[in-house]
Amino acid sequence: MTDAVDVAIVGAGPYGLSVAAHLRGAGVSYRQFGRPMHLWRDAMPRGMFLKSQGFASSLSDAGRTHTLEAFCRKTGHPYASYGLPVPLDTFVSYGQWFADELVPGVEEILVTDIVRTPNGFDLSLSDGTQATARNVVLAVGVEHFARVPALLAGLGPQWCTHPSQHTDLSVFAGQRVVVVGAGQSALESAALLHENGADVHLVARAQQVVWNGQPLDPARPLPQRIAEPESGLGSGWSTWFYSRHPELFRRLPERTRINRARTALGPAGGWWLRNRVEDQFPVLTGQAVSAATEQGGSIALSLRTRDGISRRMAADHVIAATGYRPDLTRLSFLGRGLRDQLSTVDGTVAVDRAYQSSVRGLYVIGPAVAPTMGPVMRFVYGSEHASTTVARQLAGSAKGLVRAPAPASR
Ligand SMILES: Cc1cc2nc3c(=O)[nH]c(=O)nc-3n(C[C@H](O)[C@H](O)[C@H](O)COP(=O)(O)OP(=O)(O)OC[C@H]3O[C@@H](n4cnc5c(N)ncnc54)[C@H](O)[C@@H]3O)c2cc1C
Repeated sequence: MTDAVDVAIVGAGPYGLSVAAHLRGAGVSYRQFGRPMHLWRDAMPRGMFLKSQGFASSLSDAGRTHTLEAFCRKTGHPYASYGLPVPLDTFVSYGQWFADELVPGVEEILVTDIVRTPNGFDLSLSDGTQATARNVVLAVGVEHFARVPALLAGLGPQWCTHPSQHTDLSVFAGQRVVVVGAGQSALESAALLHENGADVHLVARAQQVVWNGQPLDPARPLPQRIAEPESGLGSGWSTWFYSRHPELFRRLPERTRINRARTALGPAGGWWLRNRVEDQFPVLTGQAVSAATEQGGSIALSLRTRDGISRRMAADHVIAATGYRPDLTRLSFLGRGLRDQLSTVDGTVAVDRAYQSSVRGLYVIGPAVAPTMGPVMRFVYGSEHASTTVARQLAGSAKGLVRAPAPASR
């Protein structure tokens, strides 16, 4: 039997670490499980840069003392709020510094099962022990949701992988690699492969690659700032709305939310990546992979345009940079009993304004609740709203100040 804490935080990425910082500051008892910055450390390629601006890449703490900017100033890393891409290794070191300084004691073990009990939750842990908590915050990011189209997955892992399976793309030097996709991950993986000596082709269903523009000058004249405001996720009024008001996004009709969560801020390359892609290696747009088979030690791919024109090409490896799709059924540590009690929206957990699911005491934050809280949940920037909201609610209920709101409805 273990002592119950108020909160078990499942996850130690930007969202989980931010919630922990706020709970610790509020004196709420908690335990935190997961590998600090795991996705960034172990599922992204070395040499990558963040697409989000410096000012939009901070974790959240109550005193705002542990921003990315504060870390860079303290450690001598170059930093600018706008216009200077943040290197991946700087961001990983930043996250680790945040954890060491503000939330020491992250337990680097995984949660394997969560069961609802009359007083809260029992959690089974990968080291064979148990934990008990009155509330659970799930902040497990996207790692459970990697998506590879069935046609490519059928090739098997020797021939086709997802970008999250690679930290070192130099292992493909001298090989013919086809990267499928048109988002930042596809474009940057292709650039890094090319720069590391691979013979790369990028294949994209989109008719053309979309490139983000340079960030707007924050000191531009007021009329321009009103016409096109800049916010954590980029410029324009709809982007401003997604960045600033997840609680209002939640009030939009469900169909709109699902559509916006899937399509807003869709696949596009960062402005600083463009000259590392264009004219560097073949980019085949308007082409869908229609067949993929292994033949005599390499892969034969058939590509087809919308007009039905086909071409064939051979490759030694395919990287399916086809993204992530949150799906509750992939969270195997949520037993069927618990999963069946959860209201859902588009296959994800529906949450109320405090990020509480229909199971009282179970909170979900981050990309897994984008269809409820909006596209900002797919970005580090959303950790501010999610962590402050959840921590306020949990600190209030730990002190008996807040009655849990009615559970989320469909
Ligand atoms: C290639 C790539 C580039 C990106 N670039 C940017 C960018 O530039 N800017 C931006 O804002 N966003 C970017 N993102 C989006 C990014 O995923 C999110 O912004 C952010 O990581 C979400 O943080 P999180 O804390 O929800 O999840 P994560 O960072 O994914 O952390 C998940 C945590 O959950 C833990 N965990 C998972 N399962 C369990 C379990 N069963 N038990 C215990 N712990 C568990 C993991 O160990 C980890 O600690 C990028 C994503 C990808 C894939």
